[in-house]
Amino acid sequence: MNIAAGFASSHYCTALAHQIRAESKTAAVIMEVCGGHTTALYRYGIPAMLPSTIRMVSGPGCPVCVSDVRFVDHAVALSRLPDVVIATYGDLIRVPGSTSSLEKETASGASIRIVWSALEAVALAAASPGKRIVFLGIGFETTIPGTAIAVREAIKAGVSNFFTLCSHKIMPPAMAALIDEGVAIDAYLCPGHVSVITGSGIYAPIAAVYRKPCVVSGFEPVDVLQSILMIVRQVESGKAAVEIQYTRAVHPEGNRRAQALIADVFSPCNDWWRGLGVIAGSGMRLAEAYRRFDAAEAIPVTVEEPREAAGCICGSILKGVQTPVDCRLFARTCTPDNPVGACMVSSEGACAALYRYGAYEQ
Ligand code: SF4
Repeated sequence: MNIAAGFASSHYCTALAHQIRAESKTAAVIMEVCGGHTTALYRYGIPAMLPSTIRMVSGPGCPVCVSDVRFVDHAVALSRLPDVVIATYGDLIRVPGSTSSLEKETASGASIRIVWSALEAVALAAASPGKRIVFLGIGFETTIPGTAIAVREAIKAGVSNFFTLCSHKIMPPAMAALIDEGVAIDAYLCPGHVSVITGSGIYAPIAAVYRKPCVVSGFEPVDVLQSILMIVRQVESGKAAVEIQYTRAVHPEGNRRAQALIADVFSPCNDWWRGLGVIAGSGMRLAEAYRRFDAAEAIPVTVEEPREAAGCICGSILKGVQTPVDCRLFARTCTPDNPVGACMVSSEGACAALYRYGAYEQ
């Protein structure tokens, strides 16, 4: 950002914060369900600009964080097979499983390759006859199309040694599950990148059935503050609607081609979320016609009994009922260099974001 733009942004932020303070009369808990928003909130010090009526809480929006320990354990078990190469986005290798991590397995001789896209894993498979390449598919609707394209590309190129172990998730069932569970949430700051793909209609039941305002937000500080103001106006007027602040990227109908791709290659399933347990219809697995690429079926392996790290409260943080400073390990034994739980691994995790940008007392 150049100096002039930075000044203008700061001027708008100050004005928006002033307006929020002027208009907010009713206490409201706003949950952000996107790791990018969690990072933006801490990075720009936005909570400190808000009135005492508004409390921001982080939810299950970081893809690495919500991937359950069972998924990590499964990946670890696969990595121990001599002919398997794990292809994964970088953050995942440091997430602790029950007794190991992909990073530790690398030290023991496992083949782990960091990739920037699922297509890179297909290329790796094509160049590695005799090896089975397992791409770890995580993330929400933002990353699901990439995995779908990779599967189709593997078919097109006749690559039969490409597989994917998927823990792809969709957001609305988790948002509903938190309310059903009684977590105090008055409104949702909805994810921008997910909504580019899905459109804003996926949040309609959250607004209509649960009466929670939903605003799809961008990621600049001005975006987030404007979205909070839009939520405040809904709260004060007793409305519960879906609105888009991030209009420069998100359309109500979303990206139809990406949606069609997802619908062809994946089908909904129940899935485990760290801290939230199994949520019906919240996961995406390969559809029947593509099931031969599913590592969970094609490569049988014994996975150890899941065990959470002692003292780690990632699950409660992802549900919005505790914050990183409630964890006695935060910034003591758990740091980005030595993460005890998933929320300290990814830069979008609440613990890592607070550690890096936040003001906290030890
Ligand atoms: S600080 Fe570390 S141990 Fe505590 S909840 Fe966060 S990731 Fe888990």
